[in-house]
Amino acid sequence: MKVFVVYWHPEPQSFNAAMFHAALKALTDAGHEVRSSDLEAMRFDPVSSRKDFTTVKNPDYFKPQIEEMHASENGGFSPEIETEIGNIEWCDLMVWQFPLWWFGLPATLKGWVDRVFAMGRTYGGGRIYQSGVFQGKRALLSLTTGGPEDAYQKGAFNGDIAGILRPIHRGMLQFVGFEVLAPQIVYGPVRLTDEDRRLALAAYAERLLKIDQEHPIEVGTY
Ligand SMILES: Cc1cc2nc3c(=O)[nH]c(=O)nc-3n(C[C@H](O)[C@H](O)[C@H](O)COP(=O)(O)OP(=O)(O)OC[C@H]3O[C@@H](n4cnc5c(N)ncnc54)[C@H](O)[C@@H]3O)c2cc1C
Repeated sequence: MKVFVVYWHPEPQSFNAAMFHAALKALTDAGHEVRSSDLEAMRFDPVSSRKDFTTVKNPDYFKPQIEEMHASENGGFSPEIETEIGNIEWCDLMVWQFPLWWFGLPATLKGWVDRVFAMGRTYGGGRIYQSGVFQGKRALLSLTTGGPEDAYQKGAFNGDIAGILRPIHRGMLQFVGFEVLAPQIVYGPVRLTDEDRRLALAAYAERLLKIDQEHPIEVGTY
């Protein structure tokens, strides 16, 4: 299997970094081909702008989706964006590793989606959801939280984690055609003992060794 891992955390000694490196090792050990984008190491700029393109459709009014469609028709994405789209097109499984920030993706990873999920190339013209460009591919969110697991249940003060992740699962990944696997979540790693963090890393590595046998989950359409 071909696996593309996208990762962001501002600290290379973080627990997220440990999750990222554990994933690269486990996937490689399992015999998969692995590519990765470490967005912090790349100093990835999350802001959509004309630098995403080598082509120009309208020089007077910058509308990202219009420029994306034009670039899709004319091979006009910058090398940086072209590489990221190429990695998505190449992979069978895409993994995102990140800390949950404000109930969502941290800004750099969100900006990666803004810039890389380009209209015309990754969606559009009726190619969304079950007819999406990336149908047949699967995606896995691997994240950490600050809050404990019991705060992320229905009726608890943060609410159901499935509802919090729905905009990512449904509005981003399924929108462009991916099927999603059950998320890998380490709740409050800072609250765990060193031994429990080590066990969490081992459990993730163990899961990844058999990830090609997993089935996608239902994400509600409500
Ligand atoms: C702007 C912002 C918004 C946030 N919003 C939310 C939110 O909406 N909801 C929420 O729940 N939380 C939120 N948080 C908290 C955040 O999600 C957590 O701080 C984060 O997920 C913890 O992961 P980390 O990788 O940063 O942990 P770290 O603090 O980097 O790591 C935890 C511990 O693991 C240790 N460690 C590192 N590597 C290893 C290893 N190999 N083996 C064992 N131990 C290791 C570290 O040394 C550290 O002691 C927010 C934080 C910020 C800054």
